Amino acid sequence: MSQTTTSSSTPAWTATILGYPRIGPDRETKKALEALWSGKADLASTEEQLAAVRAATVRRLNALGLPAHDASIPSSYSAYDQVLDAAVAVGAVPERFADLVGQDGTVDLVGYSTIARGRGAQAPLEMTKWFDTNYHYLVPEIGPDTDFRFADDRGVREFAEALADGFLTRPVVVGPVTFLLLAKAADGSSEGFAPISRLDDLLGAYEDLLAAYAAAGAEWVQLDEPGLVSDSATAGVEGLADLVRGAYDRLTALAGRPRLLVATPYGDASGYLASFGEVEGLALDLVKGALPADRSVLAGKTVVGGVVDGHNIWRGDLVQALATLRQLEGSAAHVVAGTSTSLLHVPHDVSRETQLDERLRGWLAFADQKVAEVVLLGKALGDAASVEAELAASAAGRADRLTAPGVVRPEVRDRLAALTPEAFGRSDYAVRRAAQDEALHLPALPTTTIGSFPQTTEIRRARAAWTRGDLDQAGYEEFLRTEIDRVVQLQEELGLDVVVHGEPERNDMVQYFAEQLDGFAVTQHGWVQSYGSRGVRPPILWGDVTRPAPITVPWSTYTASRTTKPVKGMLTGPVTILAWSFVRDDQPLGDTANQVALALRDEVADLEAAGIGIVQVDEPALRELLPLKTADQAAYLDWSVASFRLATAGAGDATQIHTHLCYSEFGEVIDAIDGLDADVTSIEAARSRMEVLGDIARAGFARGIGPGVYDIHSPRVPSTEEVVSLLRSAVGSVPARQLWVNPDCGLKTRGYAETTESLRHLVEAARTVRAEL
Ligand code: GLN
Ligand code: ZN
Repeated sequence: MSQTTTSSSTPAWTATILGYPRIGPDRETKKALEALWSGKADLASTEEQLAAVRAATVRRLNALGLPAHDASIPSSYSAYDQVLDAAVAVGAVPERFADLVGQDGTVDLVGYSTIARGRGAQAPLEMTKWFDTNYHYLVPEIGPDTDFRFADDRGVREFAEALADGFLTRPVVVGPVTFLLLAKAADGSSEGFAPISRLDDLLGAYEDLLAAYAAAGAEWVQLDEPGLVSDSATAGVEGLADLVRGAYDRLTALAGRPRLLVATPYGDASGYLASFGEVEGLALDLVKGALPADRSVLAGKTVVGGVVDGHNIWRGDLVQALATLRQLEGSAAHVVAGTSTSLLHVPHDVSRETQLDERLRGWLAFADQKVAEVVLLGKALGDAASVEAELAASAAGRADRLTAPGVVRPEVRDRLAALTPEAFGRSDYAVRRAAQDEALHLPALPTTTIGSFPQTTEIRRARAAWTRGDLDQAGYEEFLRTEIDRVVQLQEELGLDVVVHGEPERNDMVQYFAEQLDGFAVTQHGWVQSYGSRGVRPPILWGDVTRPAPITVPWSTYTASRTTKPVKGMLTGPVTILAWSFVRDDQPLGDTANQVALALRDEVADLEAAGIGIVQVDEPALRELLPLKTADQAAYLDWSVASFRLATAGAGDATQIHTHLCYSEFGEVIDAIDGLDADVTSIEAARSRMEVLGDIARAGFARGIGPGVYDIHSPRVPSTEEVVSLLRSAVGSVPARQLWVNPDCGLKTRGYAETTESLRHLVEAARTVRAEL
């Protein structure tokens, strides 16, 4: 072994980040993977391109001020997902993919992609939300017999590759406790089996992995243990602190291992810090979490103070951050300036945003700017005087926000301050129901869709031409009207009861609104990874929000002019707009949500005045912002539900408010969904065969409910009989007069062939079951 744990040859680091974006500044990773998947590139050339992204990342971090030789540059690359990387590294590949594992235990990029994406009837690993972020990870499947062993050494090879290139990096691996807390029991495991019960068996694989890193020359390895900050991840695990203690006692007892830095991003893990025992380093999230009350747990350790927010795009308050770091100095052996989380959640570099207002640009810090911030703080820790000018410049950048036009608009503040409780409530549901029945004349089991129709190549092309300026505004609008004509005609032919315009004018359900509202900006290159090769480009909500002009009204009124059926207007709700944007950090989220809500409230009023009798306000992200700590959830649900009500409660009794939620785990938020007070709520239900209706019936949910009768995530067309049987089971658990018939979600990602056929079956099935009532 070339290194020992007591080596003191390495200079101590002063600054670090917990991880860096993996997609590449121009989405090189995405492009390389998609070329491999489509057969346009071979394995070797794809690997070369991914290696180029890694090499460029390390060089960039070095150029930004992280030294090449002290392990402060993380090796945090992943071709798809870091949890999948860990699963493959420890041999936790589900049986159905066993053939993808090579003789030596490694899985090549093609096999790795197959586990992530599925193959034929073999489902990929399930995907779910990573803590309170918009990143999604792949859920390992662990059973009583999962044969853990250090199998795939890709991470070690990547470390060695950087070292050969002249950079001693710090490998980053999902920690063993978090790996199991985030895993699910493999199919066929006995009732009550919990993956965490396999911790002892898993540790052998981690020991071998750490030994391999040491042999390759690693001096530090970062083990990420964010699972410990989440109440839902740790729920029901008895004696977790002792389990953690046992695990880390065992890992730290390993001879010849690298030093260990345990990171607990996304929240507060104070209760577990003592359990990490003899590890040399702790990385604390001091943005979401707090300094531990008992500082003795830091004694003798290197402590990375996560004072720069890895999860937003604003320049940090470095003076405050420095003061926080100083508080650690007495307790820790060595204090390092760091980010609170990996920078995975922010775009690469704000200096590329040349179209952004220059003043706004000065307030922002993307990944590269955050690296510069931790480097500056690291210098300040050594000698604050030497960086006084930079600290002052950073403070000035923040102060500029306070006085810039648009950040505070008195008319918005006054309107919010004047709101009374009545603005948040409508008449009793019974009164509304009677008025709506009279106005809408809908049959039992009314049929509708969630809003979008397929976004065809022609639509994308027209939008691109319009964006480039090759198609003028009039031409584009004409194109959109023709598209609406087609979609309306199709819905009439199919016999859907409530018609939508199909959303052809929307590039994205949040960005579209952000572009039409004041207080938002959109970026050119601000991509962040959502999952695997998929990225999103969240808008930036920087100022007080106003609506300069009606947004959807022209499209909805045009639609209504083309049909005699009721038309459903389509808006994105305030919570979802916040969840999928980078949101200002200078006021409570609830205040920002209410500003968005007021803009939407005006839009609802204008739709109503234009004769649109149904308005859907989508809140697919309501559950996404749910805090990780149970104790914080009630306050979140209070403001999020209130903002939805503020957006919708201006509607008259006869106007039917719909909402749509994209998931079916209702247990924890069912009261909040009830609290939205929407007249009709459509939800995802097909994949769980309507199981969610049990929860709904138990909760006594009394308003309209549209459990999705088919899964739009796959091109599969459900048969009429299948939909009939789902509807019969729905009618069996919820009174028929509450039920609506609709797909699980919007149809924008589907093609017309399967959409038309599926909707035909949906309408036929509704008619069949309607006749049985
Ligand atoms: N109305 C949107 C659509 O149909 C809803 C999408 C969503 O829930 N994510 O596309
Ligand atoms: Zn949805």
